[in-house]
Amino acid sequence: MRIAVIGAGIGGLAAAAGLQRDGHEVTVYEQRPAPSPDGAGLTLFGNALEALDSLGLGDAVRSVSTGAMTSLRSGQRRPDGTWLLTVPQSAVASLHSVHRVALHRALAKQLRAGTLRAGSTALVPADGSPRITLGDRSEEVDLVVAADGIRSRSRAALGLDTGLRYAGYTAWRGVTSGPVDLQGEAGETWGRGRIFGIVPLPDERIYWFGTLKAPPGASFPDEHEAVLREFAGWHAPIRECIAATRPEAVLRHDIYDVAKPLASFTRGRTVLLGDAAHAMTPNLGQGAGQGLEDATTLALLLRDASADDLDAALARYSGIRRKRTGAIMRRSRMAGRVAQASNPVTAGLRDAALRLTPGGAVGVLSQRLQEWPKVAG
Ligand SMILES: Cc1cc2nc3c(=O)[nH]c(=O)nc-3n(C[C@H](O)[C@H](O)[C@H](O)COP(=O)(O)OP(=O)(O)OC[C@H]3O[C@@H](n4cnc5c(N)ncnc54)[C@H](O)[C@@H]3O)c2cc1C
Repeated sequence: MRIAVIGAGIGGLAAAAGLQRDGHEVTVYEQRPAPSPDGAGLTLFGNALEALDSLGLGDAVRSVSTGAMTSLRSGQRRPDGTWLLTVPQSAVASLHSVHRVALHRALAKQLRAGTLRAGSTALVPADGSPRITLGDRSEEVDLVVAADGIRSRSRAALGLDTGLRYAGYTAWRGVTSGPVDLQGEAGETWGRGRIFGIVPLPDERIYWFGTLKAPPGASFPDEHEAVLREFAGWHAPIRECIAATRPEAVLRHDIYDVAKPLASFTRGRTVLLGDAAHAMTPNLGQGAGQGLEDATTLALLLRDASADDLDAALARYSGIRRKRTGAIMRRSRMAGRVAQASNPVTAGLRDAALRLTPGGAVGVLSQRLQEWPKVAG
């Protein structure tokens, strides 16, 4: 089949590589002149690695990621450093962390030369017919995979958009320029309306994130100074992580998710994949992982589909992936509400509940989250 993939993000690249391996004629269209993602970190759970393995990409990603969380105490702390919850090793055993730039490079390297067309903005027709428009010309294909991210123009063009919802908080992200002594501890620290997270990367640098309840579109004249200020007085090595990050490398994004799960991930011969289909809040660390599950599910369903049963395969993709991602989106939204609690009473109750939660229960919940509906390949 001739397949056009719109968007060279994690979802689009993984889908393209998997589909190309299966013998499809794939072209990826990326609007950016050089596909360079924002340069922070990312965590991938076992389900994401399993999906990558099914696409034949697992080893390439493992070679640029680390599972170092198992050697550290991890879980949730209070801003003074007191541990509220320590997660068992089993909950982080399959967790990998990776620098986004390294992940994108590793995925892009799996594509045959000439597959990726950078600087190409591709649009789809409203009726879902398998055609893309590139400026003043259009190309006919057999299938379009629209992996064009949270603000997907394809989703809107196909009439599948439910809008975006502001989650109520903004997030800074950064990667230190060098190692920081973590004193054997990582994970998240929950304050009132604020969370700080520390994740080791393979090259001993540290990926960190800090969230803050704020109105949408809030502006900070100096992002580095703002994140230092918002987390001033929090336990070590939070200040050290921020201070070890080049000010120009501090990113900030307001957090949005899809307002309501979409009624379908397909229209005609166009399918939505990744954030374009189900952008979710980052609280469960599952956004990219779900895009990778999408990519695997689609590739496996297309493996045996003839032109006659392509519509049935796409309908199955939509059914399976809508159910799974809708449930995770809702849980992620709820987890965000709890973690971002700013009212002292609510935050106090949250902390008390965390203290009473057995680590083993967290391990079980984490395992369940990583169980996903696989189709036979
Ligand atoms: C603060 C934060 C932390 C996160 N942490 C994690 C985490 O730890 N683990 C995890 O699994 N997920 C995490 N996520 C979610 C994860 O980043 C996303 O789910 C994932 O990057 C989405 O990938 P994608 O390929 O679907 O979309 P994107 O990465 O957005 O890629 C879309 C691509 O399409 C291109 N494009 C758009 N329109 C067009 C067009 N018309 N033509 C051509 N190209 C186009 C864009 O330029 C872009 O390159 C986090 C998200 C945030 C905001």
